[in-house]
Amino acid sequence: MNINILTIFPEIFEVLNSGVLSKAIKNKIISFDALDIRKNASNKHNHIDSKPYGGGEGMVMSAEPIVKTLKQIDQKKLGKVLFMSPQGERLNQNKVISLSKLKNITIICGRYEGIDQRVIDKYVDEEISVGDFVLSGGEYAAICLIDAISRHIPGTLGNKDSYLKDTFSNGLLKGDVYTKPENFDSMQVPEVLLSGNHKKIEQWKKENSLLKTFTKRPDLLKDIKLTKKQKKLLEEWASKAIL
Ligand code: SAH
Repeated sequence: MNINILTIFPEIFEVLNSGVLSKAIKNKIISFDALDIRKNASNKHNHIDSKPYGGGEGMVMSAEPIVKTLKQIDQKKLGKVLFMSPQGERLNQNKVISLSKLKNITIICGRYEGIDQRVIDKYVDEEISVGDFVLSGGEYAAICLIDAISRHIPGTLGNKDSYLKDTFSNGLLKGDVYTKPENFDSMQVPEVLLSGNHKKIEQWKKENSLLKTFTKRPDLLKDIKLTKKQKKLLEEWASKAIL
């Protein structure tokens, strides 16, 4: 995947050069180019923003430097143009998976009070939000998006199956995980995980994942097709919860 990023802080994207993502970049599974909108500032003072028409607080990023930067990108490599915005569609795992299948994407990062609406109207295909809260810049949201997408591009993760078992992949939260030592601060790893009985372990993992979802994110259970066994367990837990 090729990712073009439009930002006034290209240096923020240096963080992509760590961890799993850095390997994906080194192995050319993902390439990204952070383009500095300020290089296309419309006047000699390097301004990329201006006061909002009609008054109001803050500054608005001007259309011209953003559009000039968009036009500098090889148009064959532009792909889908996304604008990170708290007003966009809220990002979820399904959206991440569908975006991970694209060859090219372009991400515009806003700052201040956002960008001139005419850029969105004419050049943006989709607005994406990372949650119902307001960040000071689209860069942090873009980094979340890029990291999440990269997990679904074959070759990024060492174990190609691990994203298939992630939280949300089957609609549930992933179960509890433990590692050495067996006893830590007088807390013991669940016995079954040490038993070597793969069938029992699998069953425990499935139940633990369902229980975790039931207690922490019951809203997720509405969106999945439950098996008879799962329904029975949920009924049991629900009756205990009421008691
Ligand atoms: N005043 C605007 C918010 C501007 S925040 C409003 O009330 O709608 C500045 C920039 O940060 C935005 O243009 C956007 O690019 C980014 N941003 C803020 N919150 C975000 C979120 N939840 N998801 C994605 N991008 C966000």
